[in-house]
Amino acid sequence: MYRTHHCNQLRKTDEGRSVTLAGWVNSRRDHGGVIFIDLRDREGLTQVVFRPEEYPQVAEASHGLRGEDVIQITGNVAPRLPGTENPKLATGDIEIIASELKVLNKADVPPFPLDSKVANEDLRMTYRYLDLRRSEMAGNLRLRHRIVKATRDFLDEAGYIEIETPILSNPTPEGARDFLVPSRLNPGMFYALPQAPQQYKQLLQVAGLEKYFQVARCFRDEDLRAERQPEFTQIDIEASFITDVEIQTLIEGLLVRIFREAKGLEIKTPFPRMTYHDAMDRFGSDKPDTRFAMELVDLGDVFRESQFKVFRSVVDGGGVIKAINAKGAAALLSKEQLKKWEEWVKTEFGAKGLAYIKWSAVAATPSSQEVPAAPPPRFAAWESPIVKFFSEAEKTTLAARMGFAEGDVLFFGADTWEHVCEVLGRVRLRCAELLELTKGSDALNFLWVVDFPLLAFSSEELKHVAVHHPFTRPRPEDVPLLEAGEYRKVRALAYDVVLNGVELGGGSIRIHERDLQAKIFEVIGVSPEEQEVKFGHLLRAFTFGAPPHGGIALGLDRLVMLIVGAESIRDVIAFPKNNRGIDLMTHSPVEVDFKQLREIYIASTAKKG
Ligand code: ASP
Repeated sequence: MYRTHHCNQLRKTDEGRSVTLAGWVNSRRDHGGVIFIDLRDREGLTQVVFRPEEYPQVAEASHGLRGEDVIQITGNVAPRLPGTENPKLATGDIEIIASELKVLNKADVPPFPLDSKVANEDLRMTYRYLDLRRSEMAGNLRLRHRIVKATRDFLDEAGYIEIETPILSNPTPEGARDFLVPSRLNPGMFYALPQAPQQYKQLLQVAGLEKYFQVARCFRDEDLRAERQPEFTQIDIEASFITDVEIQTLIEGLLVRIFREAKGLEIKTPFPRMTYHDAMDRFGSDKPDTRFAMELVDLGDVFRESQFKVFRSVVDGGGVIKAINAKGAAALLSKEQLKKWEEWVKTEFGAKGLAYIKWSAVAATPSSQEVPAAPPPRFAAWESPIVKFFSEAEKTTLAARMGFAEGDVLFFGADTWEHVCEVLGRVRLRCAELLELTKGSDALNFLWVVDFPLLAFSSEELKHVAVHHPFTRPRPEDVPLLEAGEYRKVRALAYDVVLNGVELGGGSIRIHERDLQAKIFEVIGVSPEEQEVKFGHLLRAFTFGAPPHGGIALGLDRLVMLIVGAESIRDVIAFPKNNRGIDLMTHSPVEVDFKQLREIYIASTAKKG
């Protein structure tokens, strides 16, 4: 037996007990020849003291101990000397007087200290096993386990069955690039790693399993942003004979359970619901952060008759004028910074510009004059490249509509509704960051965004594309619009769950009829031949009594990240890839031998160097 107790277990009540502990030397202190160590295992720390007067040989050996050595010690639990207790430590009232010491393995000096936050993430990833020894990282993984366990328990109790679906599967239209795996047994053929188990989970409904879930690994070959990984985990759910609201209620129950068990927090349900249109119109985002207002305000009526040609022509052309009021931002935004913001919206979103009005607060200067000076004209303090074109009436209405006051900055958007909403939505978030509107906030603003459009027109592909995926069901009242070819007006029975401006997951009620599915494929430009090749299995399955069904998937990594308050998704994944898709510890991906490639009928065209 390696140990009788773990390192976070012994208390004053254990005084006099003979115990054996095993773990790592967390720290070592030499107090005039008496060695003290903090022994660490995954549960915590216990102080061990080596006393030369009682156990000279053991004390002698303790001089050779170094940080991260793996040791086993046996000794008696003793109270610490009065005044030397450590109230910050659960075991801080006691120490072990070591009578035996066994070094199980020596350790080299670690490449970075394990007791503090290390900034160099490449180094942390290279020695990931050491990084994971840090209590913060180990804590993240343990909380992740709690969340997955709560998920499994909750869904099991609700009658859901966990079923694994293939990892070697076919390319799927989930919207990203596929990872391909060549088939040795079928020369020239490829599997794709699943972007999501979407079709399998639907086929499990046709199979009559009724309630499916999976903690599913998904793979998407994308350029990696901060919160993305090429492989990630979804809590994937699908059920038959279920409505959209019933799925949403199920997910609310699941999140209640997760937050209760992982965080000890009671979250309020039902979550508010907002249509996609309102989310975009008011917050400029399909995942609005509703912890602060700064809503987009429509000004079309104010500038309908305007002399300012830019606004006027947008209104005349059927576009919109909107603005947000960044309250109190004037002191934080210099002219140069505003120029930079304008560059940013131009390059990032193709906006034509970013019109603003800045109303700097005027410092009150005591006047030496006897007679008070006449107040400056009302709008004189407005700094803006466009305000000179506004009439007095426009300025008055604008100020009232926007609640514009000294110290504020207004930002304008004038273009198509979609473009204005998107750009101002991004400016809104940037203002919130600048003004630190959510700093220190413990609010948990959950929200359902519903009634997404089913289809969008892709100006790159010059055709309609599915906004979620092509298996999403149109709202029944919008099916006539689909038949009439008014594709962009068709809304979907789709829903996303959002927390504090982050999309936790999304899903939909699905199409379960062959003809409707074929129609959607046709609209998004999948020819009948291609339908047969790529989706023949699904279309056929729908002809054999497919039940109405729907589902959802939640991004587990992001959920864990939000719950633990980690800054990066990489901090909640044991062995993540960096932003070039590389595992710095194992150096994956690696070059392979040409013989291995030959066996799978592959020749690399990559240029070396
Ligand atoms: N398969 C979808 C996704 O991964 C989620 C769903 O519709 O259930 O985004």
